[in-house]
Amino acid sequence: MTENTGTSTLAASGAEGAIRIPAREAEPWVSTLLGGLQESAPQAIDALAKRYRAEGRPVIAFGAGEPDFDTPAHIVDAVREALSDPATYHYSPPAGLPALRSAVATEVAGYTGLNVDASEVMVSNGGKQAIYNALTAVLDPGDEVIIPAPYWTSYPEQVALAGGVPVPVATGPESEFKATVASLEAARTERTRLLIVTSPSNPTGSVYTEDELREIAEWANSTGIWVLTDEMYRHFVYDGAEFSSIAPFVQRNRLLIVGGLAKSHVLTGWRLGWVVSTPRIVQAMTSFQSHTTGNVSNVSQHAALAALVGGDAFPEQMRQVFERRRQLALAILERTPGFTVTPPSGAFYFFVDARGALGGELQLGEDPVRTSMQLSTLLLERIDVAVVPGEAFGAPGFLRFSYALDDAQLTEGLERIRELLASELIA
Ligand code: PLP
Repeated sequence: MTENTGTSTLAASGAEGAIRIPAREAEPWVSTLLGGLQESAPQAIDALAKRYRAEGRPVIAFGAGEPDFDTPAHIVDAVREALSDPATYHYSPPAGLPALRSAVATEVAGYTGLNVDASEVMVSNGGKQAIYNALTAVLDPGDEVIIPAPYWTSYPEQVALAGGVPVPVATGPESEFKATVASLEAARTERTRLLIVTSPSNPTGSVYTEDELREIAEWANSTGIWVLTDEMYRHFVYDGAEFSSIAPFVQRNRLLIVGGLAKSHVLTGWRLGWVVSTPRIVQAMTSFQSHTTGNVSNVSQHAALAALVGGDAFPEQMRQVFERRRQLALAILERTPGFTVTPPSGAFYFFVDARGALGGELQLGEDPVRTSMQLSTLLLERIDVAVVPGEAFGAPGFLRFSYALDDAQLTEGLERIRELLASELIA
């Protein structure tokens, strides 16, 4: 028996020239790929807010990116029925149940006007996995992906995990946080493979017009760049804004449409998303998924099928509630010292410019508050309000507020912030 020298069995086997791998006990090991990866900030903040609440603190959480409604009863009932069929208990095709792939094809064809066949659909474990599958299918090592910033927090991480290089393109309130062709062109290199378009956007809530999308698509088509359009929030637009998809304007053989039901039908916990692309890409993603996760839970697929068959009545009801809350929140945020607000046209977030509160007058313990990260920590520690700092979205100086919480909490949470900043900044 070999003595424990603090190295792994591979090294201890005595083979000449064996690589000496440190034993786990001696030095906890994590790969280069995952070593620098941080947990998604909105999810980490949501978890912290829930922990504080469980400890009895009166936390109001603006952090979570999920509707505060329950999954509609007709979806839950359909799942109960599916559970009486033993087929639900067993493996199913990795790309998704045929009936669900057809339903997604019908859905996407319906709002884009494209012809979409079920063979062009792959169902995944949430929009998150759908995007990761799509990136993995089109990126070669070192390929660059243009990501307008502020961006959804997982895009750069997923691009890097898929071997690509994220290239953020900064946008600001002056353009309603929308990228222009000129800014995209300035970021393009010979290695640019893909552009990610998110409209309505998380975190900014901005919504591109059809003309803006057509122009961006024409640029992408002329340069040979793929377009991934993330349409998770397509149901949620306000104040007369209209949702348009970039998909009809993009060359079909370089198009990836991502969607899901987490936001529209509160399938956040069920996990269900999809990618629509060419049959070749769908086949590649299916092979990948067949080795990594296999089929999405059949239970969730039946939930998704019921959601799609049930149509848009439920998301429309939620949209109307969000529209009202958006007004409620806007009225308070606009009166909050240190904050500048660009009224968002979509999703369910405010992306507030908090730089006016970061001059150093606020104190966190002994330290002046100079970053949005510090400000979000101060809000949670001093007044039990959880928000996500702009650093998580590539936009330091900003704070993201979800308004997917009830009127009473929304008002109270925002008033706590307004009162704190009014007393500390104006004093
Ligand atoms: N894309 C955007 C823009 C999102 O905001 C989210 C979730 O917050 C996702 C994708 C992923 O959604 P899912 O919960 O289906 O994984």
